[in-house]
Amino acid sequence: MKIKIALFLFLIPSFVFSQISLDYYLPKNVSYNSKIPTPKAFLGYEVGEQHVSPYEIYAYYREVAKYSDRIKLETYARSFENRELMLATVSSPKNLANVDQIRMEHLKLANSEVSKSLKPEQMPIVVWMGYSVHGNEASGVNSALLTIYYLAAAQGPEIDALLNESIILVDPCINPDGANRFSTWVNQNKSQSLVADANSREFKETWPGGRTNHYWFDMNRDWLYQQLPESKGRLVKYYDWLPNVLTDHHEMGSNSTFFFQPGIPARTHPMTPVKNIELTSKIGQFHAAGLDSIGSYYYTKENYDDFYYGKGSTLPDVNGAIGILFEQASSRGHLQESVNGILSFPFTVRNQFSATLSTLKASKSMRNELLTYMRDFYAEKSTDEVKAYVFGGGNDPVRTWEMVNVMLRNKIEIYKLSKNETLGNSQFSSADAYVVPMSQPKHRLVKSLFEKRTTFADSAFYDISAWTLPLCMNVPFAESKAAMSLGQKLSEANFPQGKIVGSSSYSYLFEWDGYFAARTAYELLNKGYKLKYATEPFEAVVDGKNKAFSYGTVQILCEGNDPKAYLEELAKRDGTVFYGQKTGLTQSGINLGSEKFRRMEKPQALMIVGDGVDYNDAGEVWHLLDQRVRIPLSQMDISSVNRTDLSKYTHIIINQGRYNELSDEKIKGFLTKGGTIVALGQGASWLSQKKIGTVGIKSEASNDGKSKRQFVSKSGYDGALVTSGAILEAKLDPSHPLCYGYKQISLPIFKVNNVTFEETGNPYNTPLMFTEKPLLAGYVHPKNLERFKNSPAIIAQTFGQGKIVSISDNPNFRAFWYGTNKLFLNSLFFSSGISAGRFEDED
Ligand SMILES: [Zn+2]
Repeated sequence: MKIKIALFLFLIPSFVFSQISLDYYLPKNVSYNSKIPTPKAFLGYEVGEQHVSPYEIYAYYREVAKYSDRIKLETYARSFENRELMLATVSSPKNLANVDQIRMEHLKLANSEVSKSLKPEQMPIVVWMGYSVHGNEASGVNSALLTIYYLAAAQGPEIDALLNESIILVDPCINPDGANRFSTWVNQNKSQSLVADANSREFKETWPGGRTNHYWFDMNRDWLYQQLPESKGRLVKYYDWLPNVLTDHHEMGSNSTFFFQPGIPARTHPMTPVKNIELTSKIGQFHAAGLDSIGSYYYTKENYDDFYYGKGSTLPDVNGAIGILFEQASSRGHLQESVNGILSFPFTVRNQFSATLSTLKASKSMRNELLTYMRDFYAEKSTDEVKAYVFGGGNDPVRTWEMVNVMLRNKIEIYKLSKNETLGNSQFSSADAYVVPMSQPKHRLVKSLFEKRTTFADSAFYDISAWTLPLCMNVPFAESKAAMSLGQKLSEANFPQGKIVGSSSYSYLFEWDGYFAARTAYELLNKGYKLKYATEPFEAVVDGKNKAFSYGTVQILCEGNDPKAYLEELAKRDGTVFYGQKTGLTQSGINLGSEKFRRMEKPQALMIVGDGVDYNDAGEVWHLLDQRVRIPLSQMDISSVNRTDLSKYTHIIINQGRYNELSDEKIKGFLTKGGTIVALGQGASWLSQKKIGTVGIKSEASNDGKSKRQFVSKSGYDGALVTSGAILEAKLDPSHPLCYGYKQISLPIFKVNNVTFEETGNPYNTPLMFTEKPLLAGYVHPKNLERFKNSPAIIAQTFGQGKIVSISDNPNFRAFWYGTNKLFLNSLFFSSGISAGRFEDED
């Protein structure tokens, strides 16, 4: 009881009962330049009194920069909602006058040919401080008001020394679209008499909440593959500077305290040097001292990890730097009850600011050690038995192009293949294949992108356990144990434009292999062109020679007009190759007028969103259709679906999520009248529960048993059963409409749930099946692997006049799984080709 009272008094600072003041946050015994406006002088409220909006924080940074010669500001990106993303470079006026020269010197740390001659003891340390990548974890972005005020206004020898010896890069608001949603929510629900009741509306954001960006992406998973404009812009700046320390300020559950890295040591990626954890721990002593001095409680090493390199605090670990995750217990709104007593927003802001100051102190104090660590990191030569990775070829240059882009964005050295090569069973042509040698400064990062790791020190993962780049992109690749002769080094990748071969007012053909074939098709349908797709292969004359066309080849009926000029635009934009045909007769297989060319209808899709729906998965669909394929997507909350006439829609998309409130009668009615349901993950499970279609779902694996275990081991056993993201192999049937555009017989699939379909007993309705030994990369518990093997990954069924496409996994994962987007898109464009699949039982 005594303890409770003590905590209660401690967590309610005196200002709850009076006014908050800047003194509460700032270090004692420091004088401040009165010319620099305080946050309150500019914003009209004290830090922590209400939530700062992205527009306000940038405006304040601009105002401070007007009066300070310690700050340079730049805009590094714009969000989907056209909000600015800003980076402040803070240092001494003298350093700022030579900032480009300092930067160029600093980058030499990563170049072993010249780095020996550098003198780290004379170089400034480069520190990157990033706030609130999750928009509803707001103590970070609000503390960034204090960061810039302190750095601009503090006076005396301590700040002078810090600025002389440091380049401080401040990214005050990493996710402005999310932060805007969240700050609007909490400010509009704030009461003058602060409400701490956790049930109150202030703490219950409406779907999808402010964590994510515009398309509901978790931006703290996009640092490596950079599919979003915010990350693309940020990583340009990151690699322009190659900071030694990077901080990532987050929030966690309200009942916790404060966390700083290192995380669980066994969950560090093996490509991260052991020394990295030592240095992170040493920096941690500074955080501890800072939090001790203000009486805040904290912990370290007990959870969170440093495994997936797509996170802000982890990517630096494979770039010769130290990434540090901070997690503050969230007050979410302005004041919230918690098991530790009343948690106030200003208290959380103060802890984040303390972590900022301790990071700067540690970085300055360990300057020489951290700079030398980076130099040694990049001077180290690879001892791996693999000497190079070769990739390219295949049937779609766009996916290879994006794979090249991902690596170039991460400053990886890539070369053209100098001559045709055979590696194992794979052949690579110098025309379209590339080499990534391991003899390069980024060999650790290269290894992490290409390896197919299936053994791990720990069996629980905070995030995904595999992200092998060529498997995500579905691009052929091989490793070489001998060094390869290198062709030209790539400095940029040009988009592989398509072309027109021949001209015609009869018809044009284009294949479905290209990543943007669906964008081409949708645009043509939208313009009113009649399109048909081939359900069987054929050969036709192209440029005087026979060319084979596969399943899903699209025919544009010209009806007497040659659309060549228009198609040339699409060829450039989408990389599509069009083949003009002057006759309906083919050389073999079906003719162009055959009824085995089916009419392609323009999809008009509706996606169910709102409470219960997984906003990440739904956002990935929205982003794919809107940004990549340029299909307008209607979105409707479950309650609206139940009372809306759905007859105008061709497809309804049901993602991972809970659909207790969705009317099964409504969905059945839609199907009966000829609509198509595309159901993914738990969306497919919901259909199964409601007996809509006949998909069976396997029961979950269990760790329960008769043998007794220690109570404390429970979370480890439970965690091991979670499939947090692994890559599995599936075999596909290229003749099935849902697999059109794939010319291979096996395909890597990303498995990020435990939803597993039962075999159907129908030989025709499972176009994609996991193989007998499906694990390609990542961690899967043996019991789950047993469930997954030989199970269908896709089931295509009819229901009344309608069709059901059930997909056990997420083919659109985080926008970087280019390899399986086509499976999803095929369900929109080729669902008319799904038939009941009449068959005789052989047994
Ligand atoms: Zn977070």
